[in-house]
Amino acid sequence: MAVKWLKRRGCRCEPRWPSLVTEQNGYTMPAVPSEHGSPWTRGNDLRARCEGCGATYPGNFSIPPGTSAPFSWAREPKNSACSCEPRWPELMAKIDGSWWYGRSGSDGQRVVDGAAYEAFCRSCGAFHLGPMVLVTDQPHPFSGEGDDGA
Ligand SMILES: [Zn+2]
Ligand SMILES: [Zn+2]
Repeated sequence: MAVKWLKRRGCRCEPRWPSLVTEQNGYTMPAVPSEHGSPWTRGNDLRARCEGCGATYPGNFSIPPGTSAPFSWAREPKNSACSCEPRWPELMAKIDGSWWYGRSGSDGQRVVDGAAYEAFCRSCGAFHLGPMVLVTDQPHPFSGEGDDGA
């Protein structure tokens, strides 16, 4: 029987760890070694692996600046139908440079235009084009890394 943690841990490439990738929601993103990782990679419990041989990277890593991932795939306009059950379980939107959680609707205290802020379903990534109600008083602590570079 296969035991996951007995899998080979080291990179077999020469030089080792030529490049790293990580995955979130089934989408592959570039990753770079980072001494302390990042709030994003730690908060989402992401794992990086060698792009060459697939070995799991044992250290911390972060998403390089300039990567609009992990949510760039949500910005394809055609993807505006939530495939979740129930629909729109949780929304996210970047407002004034910070990520906010929200839900579909217009009956709350803080309602924003989902389309204007490119709100999307956190589960399936579908674009939410209607009004969105912010469900927290504060933006989420991670600030959408990748947008602060260059
Ligand atoms: Zn490798
Ligand atoms: Zn969804």
